[in-house]
Amino acid sequence: MKELQAKNWLEKVIPRLVQPYMELMQKTEDLRRAAPLGMRARCECTLSQQITVLVVRFDRIEEIQVPYCTKCELVAVQLVRSGLFPCAPFRPSLAVDIKMLDFVTRLFLRVSPNHTAWCNTLEDYLGSQGYHVHGTDPLRRRFANALMWFNSLQNAVVAQVKSVLNTFRIGQQTGDKETAGRAAESEREEKEIRTSEVRPEPLGDSAGIEDPKRRAVENAESHDGLPEPAPRASEYLRSRCPLCFGSTTTPNLNNGCPTVVVCVDACFTHKHNDQNGRDPRRIHPDTMFISPDKVQEMEDHVEARRNSRDAKRSRHLESPDDDHIEPGMKVPKSVLDGCGNSFEAANGTAKSRAKGFDERALAGMFCPHGSCLFLVTMSSVGEKQHYILVMLQTLFNGIPDSWTVGFLYDVACQVERSCRKWGFLAEYMERIVWGVSVFHAYGHEWGCQVVYHPRKCKGFGLCDGETCERCWHAISRLIAYTRVAGYYIRLYTLDSQFHFNNKQTLLNAGTWLRRKLRQCESRRRAAKGELERTGQSTTILREQWANQVASQTKPLPRQKKQAAKTAVEETFRLRKNVELYEQRVADLEAVLLSNYSRTDQRAMAGEDIQKAKADLVKARESLAKQEKSLGIPERRQLKHLMESPFLTKRMNALSLKMRLRERLRARKFELDRLERSYRKQRSEQRLDDHTRDAIQRREPGITNLASKYNKLCDDMTDLIRRHQAPNFAIAPKKIDRQSLFDLDVDEEIWQDVGLDEDIDNPPLWLCNEEVRRGIRAVLELDRCDEETSRLQAQRKALQEWFMDEWYTLEAALEQTRTAGLQHQLMLRRKYLLKLYTN
Ligand SMILES: [Zn+2]
Ligand SMILES: [Zn+2]
Ligand SMILES: [Zn+2]
Repeated sequence: MKELQAKNWLEKVIPRLVQPYMELMQKTEDLRRAAPLGMRARCECTLSQQITVLVVRFDRIEEIQVPYCTKCELVAVQLVRSGLFPCAPFRPSLAVDIKMLDFVTRLFLRVSPNHTAWCNTLEDYLGSQGYHVHGTDPLRRRFANALMWFNSLQNAVVAQVKSVLNTFRIGQQTGDKETAGRAAESEREEKEIRTSEVRPEPLGDSAGIEDPKRRAVENAESHDGLPEPAPRASEYLRSRCPLCFGSTTTPNLNNGCPTVVVCVDACFTHKHNDQNGRDPRRIHPDTMFISPDKVQEMEDHVEARRNSRDAKRSRHLESPDDDHIEPGMKVPKSVLDGCGNSFEAANGTAKSRAKGFDERALAGMFCPHGSCLFLVTMSSVGEKQHYILVMLQTLFNGIPDSWTVGFLYDVACQVERSCRKWGFLAEYMERIVWGVSVFHAYGHEWGCQVVYHPRKCKGFGLCDGETCERCWHAISRLIAYTRVAGYYIRLYTLDSQFHFNNKQTLLNAGTWLRRKLRQCESRRRAAKGELERTGQSTTILREQWANQVASQTKPLPRQKKQAAKTAVEETFRLRKNVELYEQRVADLEAVLLSNYSRTDQRAMAGEDIQKAKADLVKARESLAKQEKSLGIPERRQLKHLMESPFLTKRMNALSLKMRLRERLRARKFELDRLERSYRKQRSEQRLDDHTRDAIQRREPGITNLASKYNKLCDDMTDLIRRHQAPNFAIAPKKIDRQSLFDLDVDEEIWQDVGLDEDIDNPPLWLCNEEVRRGIRAVLELDRCDEETSRLQAQRKALQEWFMDEWYTLEAALEQTRTAGLQHQLMLRRKYLLKLYTN
């Protein structure tokens, strides 16, 4: 029944309302003036009748009579002509003033949609003035229906205008469905235009558009042996973000910069409750969701590759011991494994909390300006790479072959690795620059950060991937509503919201560009000053940076050669571990036994102590095993190590630092969940309080670790000064307690300068603080240059897009005879002008 009604709306009613609605908007000056009731005269047909429709307006409820007949004009058409919208496709019992529907639509883009509250308020308000809705059928359901299909009508009009404009557009597009056909068609038309500059006026067709005539103005350039116009991105992408995709000429960027930068993120709070069955299929005409078929196709593709015989064989050949660089990658296997494990651990909790949902997350691709490009709804949280891959593939389908893409994602290193390993997106690999988003960098090993961090690797300018967070935040109020709404309503609502957000973003584009240029300039000044203060030459600094990257992304030395040394170090580390766990257990016991502990503190300590004790047992076991395995030479080495105060302290410092890093990272993951908590529902709030407490409770521990570490650094500096340390020994830098929790990319916490074995003649990037600062400044300056070139390209793209839109619009206006459509085009023109003045 519902299904049939939806079908009727979509196929039989909405298409016939487009024209009357456009006329209504024109006649009432966009609802500024009241629409007179426009019912037709009753027809002579045998089945003709009058039906009574209850009309709800802002200031009254009234009853009107509308002629109804299955053969003649629809009731809906008569109502729309009168500024009203029906609650049912054919025999509505109620109609709502379009002004009210328009108002509520705008309201629901700014607050969480709540039909019940709206209808109760309305009934209460009009009721207080003596108006009542008669009958048993509640207002809410009928109102919700009217609103839903009114929105469909609005979007159908937008789609109609868009398609009219597209017939007047010239220029070669990428990936749009009709590309091939359109190109051929335009060629034919160009010829026609040249032969007859002024064509006789054809009669308008039903949609009110005359046979589209191409503009000859700009075309003149492209004929007669002049170079072909530059290929453009698809109309879909151009309309998502003109700054990124609007160019009509080839974007000119600094060498090595990707043509566009996009970021991808998944949001696990946008779930959907598992309902019995789905609501009627209703999809936004300009949807941003990639179709489930395409997603499925990619999933199958990924599965097939992973399970192929070649894949199994190569997995078999892999030896777990040897570190190496996998083909095509820049970071060794050991580092990538580290990143992978770190994120796996963090995602474990998300997986377990995904019961009772049929859709478990939302993933989106956004541009740096905050426009949404594509969306995918995720039904599984486990292996999710195919969601990411399908978005990338769709993006590539929409951009010219010469364009490259900078891709920011929280585990980009792992996605690139799979792509290289299994051959996903093989045809596009050369055109992708991979980067991890700044806010997720802390989860990655240092060796990965020097290659993937957008501040360190070439091409990303000052873009950091933060827009994803902003975009999720902008739709956070929809979480509760979309969780319980019907499956298709959820998608439709999200589509509408993102369209609205994109439009707002575009209106602010000019301001955005100016702000970013200012920011970039001030950062450039700061970096320049810093570079001058270090007094280093940029040539040397660049060389040193290249050396640093090469050294820090070297695979770990072969295990065998290292075996003796590692065994000794490992023993030492394990001893230290046992000590640390003993200390932790003792601390927790103190909390449990103290009379001053609060109950919640005690409860948490009780929880933690179980784990700490288990860890201690494990640490003791592995230490015993390790000590047993040591041969006589290793034992001697160990003894030697224990006798050297400097070496002992250095080993101590290293294990402290490793432990500290581990703790900080764990804390940051927890905090991350907390910072994203605005995405969460109330029910999960309690869990957050719990997390916040847990984090605060652990902070003293972390600060203690840092103090201990700093004390060791002092001692080591002292020993070096007194020549009681090996030659070439470097004192490690202390950790700044203030910024300890930032985990910024250049924090001392990441690097083990002075803690590794001694190297004869340590390189400048390792031991010279000026050089280290200089490298940072040079990298920042490079990013600023990239940013400037990108901002200039974006400004140009926006201008080119605007010109194109403007001429297309002018051409369309010239050819349009229907008043309703003309009015819509004028509205578009007003919008463009507003954009232009911003
Ligand atoms: Zn009739
Ligand atoms: Zn953009
Ligand atoms: Zn990584």
